[in-house]
Amino acid sequence: MAVEPFKTINKTEQASTEQWFDIGVNLTNSQFSSDYHQQIELAKQAGVARICITGTNERESHLAAQMAGQYQNVYSTAGVHPHDAKDVSDNYLSVLKALYLDNQQVKAIGECGLDFNRNYSPQEQQLQVFSQQLDLAIELNAPVFLHQRDAHTAFIEVIKPRRNELKQVVVHCFTGNRQELEDYLALDCFIGITGWICDERRGKDVLELVNQIPLNRLLIETDAPFLLPRNLTPKPKDKRNLPLYLPHIAEQIAAQFNITLAELSAQTFANASEFFNIDEQVNG
Ligand SMILES: [Zn+2]
Repeated sequence: MAVEPFKTINKTEQASTEQWFDIGVNLTNSQFSSDYHQQIELAKQAGVARICITGTNERESHLAAQMAGQYQNVYSTAGVHPHDAKDVSDNYLSVLKALYLDNQQVKAIGECGLDFNRNYSPQEQQLQVFSQQLDLAIELNAPVFLHQRDAHTAFIEVIKPRRNELKQVVVHCFTGNRQELEDYLALDCFIGITGWICDERRGKDVLELVNQIPLNRLLIETDAPFLLPRNLTPKPKDKRNLPLYLPHIAEQIAAQFNITLAELSAQTFANASEFFNIDEQVNG
């Protein structure tokens, strides 16, 4: 497959009429502690009409629910990231369950999964905490927001026997190869694409693969404050990624699919609303 040359995108070219849904923003990260409110507003002005705040452990899932509860069209997830698997409390599953059941803005279980790249938690514990959260999602009939790094085989082994009972599944921040993509699609997963593809070195393989994702399985996200798109001009001095940069990532993806921004926006917005079980109509 021919590789498209990288486009340099000027911020002023960004369309403001499109409506976007950023499915993964780490707004509870300390980098947003002083201005998360402002960033939600700025994102909205840039056309990012909906945001889902990622919950990564018990405390941050609480915080995410609290933040999301202050706004219309802002949602959150409740889960324990594999990095935090070693620190779960004895009753963490009831904590996540209560967050999901008691707060209508909490829309999915996760972020959960396996990260054998950094192994901040022992692999055995990661596997246990991941399996338990998938079983909780089955019990709750809830969508799941998944993370996988350098653990593909084990990850598939945990999901596969549960897939029929699980509802919607997204593998967020996809950075894998063609075989991994095929495995996820065979399990009817949504695929989350970040600004990783805007990196002409690290992101080249994913950029070439992205148009192999069926359009009705594609979700987009910034994963802010991480993964600042490398080809963003001008670059913010603090290198912090923001949800308002989502349209920039979308331009790159639309070019790979050879579709318009309006088409990509309509499709991914509908997909995200379907994933989180939210009415597609935006109010307020
Ligand atoms: Zn992640």
